[in-house]
Amino acid sequence: MVDIAKQSADDKTNSEGQIFAEQIRLLYDSTYLACFVQAVVISTLTLALRDFVPTAHIMAVLALFAVAILSRLYLKYRYQKSPPSQGEVKKWADLYTVSVAFNGLGWMIAAYVFISTSEPTNLVFTALVLGGISSGGLISLATHLPSYYVLMFPTMLGGIGLYLQNGTSISLYTAALGFLLMIFLFVSAKRLNALLVSNISLSLEYKFLFSDLAKEKSNTDALNENLKSEVSERRLAEDKSRHAMEQAEMANNAKSDFLSSMSHELRTPLNAIMGYGQLLEHTSKDLKQSKYVDEILRGGRHLLTLINQVLDLAKIEQRQMEISIASAKPEEIIDDAIAMAEIQAISHGIKIKFHRPKKDVPLIKVDQTRVLQVLLNILSNAIKYNVPDGQVTVSIKEIEAKPSSQFVRITVADTGKGIPADSHDEIFEPFNRLAYQSSSIEGSGIGLSICKLLMELMDGKIDFQSSEGEGSVFWIDLPIDLDGFEAQQASDQEKAPKKLRG
Ligand code: ADP
Repeated sequence: MVDIAKQSADDKTNSEGQIFAEQIRLLYDSTYLACFVQAVVISTLTLALRDFVPTAHIMAVLALFAVAILSRLYLKYRYQKSPPSQGEVKKWADLYTVSVAFNGLGWMIAAYVFISTSEPTNLVFTALVLGGISSGGLISLATHLPSYYVLMFPTMLGGIGLYLQNGTSISLYTAALGFLLMIFLFVSAKRLNALLVSNISLSLEYKFLFSDLAKEKSNTDALNENLKSEVSERRLAEDKSRHAMEQAEMANNAKSDFLSSMSHELRTPLNAIMGYGQLLEHTSKDLKQSKYVDEILRGGRHLLTLINQVLDLAKIEQRQMEISIASAKPEEIIDDAIAMAEIQAISHGIKIKFHRPKKDVPLIKVDQTRVLQVLLNILSNAIKYNVPDGQVTVSIKEIEAKPSSQFVRITVADTGKGIPADSHDEIFEPFNRLAYQSSSIEGSGIGLSICKLLMELMDGKIDFQSSEGEGSVFWIDLPIDLDGFEAQQASDQEKAPKKLRG
């Protein structure tokens, strides 16, 4: 875990270090100007007062200044050549303070040398120079207070002390003014320093802000680039998938076209085969030949069913399947379907039971022929995939649903082998016969896929439940004809009293 308090303390120390380093950089920056001004002022002072002061004294003052100025210039040279690391800044600040202290000492001695002339004009001139130097130093040294103090205090105090010693009234006034100026310079230095420090910290903050901004900008730019490439990749993928979908649709249409024209082409000769087969069935007296004809007719019927199913599938896929929705009685459709499946059930030794409801089931709004087709397919499967002597149970009920979508559910349950759970997802796929691909049970694998499509066309549903070894339950949900149902109920009510009366 990051210690936030410690981190912020570290940050503070870091930024304080950087501010101090900047103060010292500014201090060193002012070296040339400060040295130049001091050299000019001390030269002018010695020139102006050379007749009043012994040459030896002047030479001593000049030597001291030479040492002070040269040491400052040397330090500046070294500093510029290899700027110190943050840890070394303090040392460089102290060195500079020492070299400035030499200047302060220089001005103190200069004050002693020049003020001792006692000449009133000289006194005023020297006072001006000392005050000027102390004030001028404020600009270049206020960035580091110790450096300024070691120049200002010796310069001012040296002057004040000597004026006091001089004792004349003008000297005393000058000393008093000098003292006031010293206080004023001291306070000003502190304020200027505070101002400089806050300025430096502000500019550093700006610098950090700018570098953060630049970093953020480069991050955003990189993100933008990523986003751009992602968008163009996605667009490319979209184009590809659209193209693939168009291709698949085209291929599917071509397949449906092919299937429907092939089925049509096959149906005509097949009808001829079936027709002549049936003629032979009725005319043939030879037992062996009758068996052959039976086989031909059985194969023909299978082929005809297959062709019809393929045609249906192609029609639905091409959206050419026409359905005519009308009100119908579900029990009647069930009766028709059971009657049609009866022969197949008998031949397989299967019993079909219909749990007829006690009270009337609502009318449904469907294409009656198509519901019959679906129900026949489910019944036929329940018979085909049943066990010998098995049973098929049909039931019907109204199912609870929202008022706008009420259904009648027809359920067909068998006692067959059931469907393995891992094949449940494949059952409505066309041409998928699951485990019965190469069995002797006749089938094409497209019956249920047609049923599903037909149910969707009629706003109905088909579904199933099955466990291996326990049989299967298939059901279809058919939309109730609400208007027809209400009309039927009204007519039933009308009939009831008549019956009672009769
Ligand atoms: P098929 O012509 O093969 O009967 P369907 O589309 O009607 O084609 O059924 C698809 C497959 O679903 C069948 O081949 C069979 O494997 C399985 N199936 C359908 N109904 C049942 C059922 N009642 N019991 C067991 N399996 C079934």
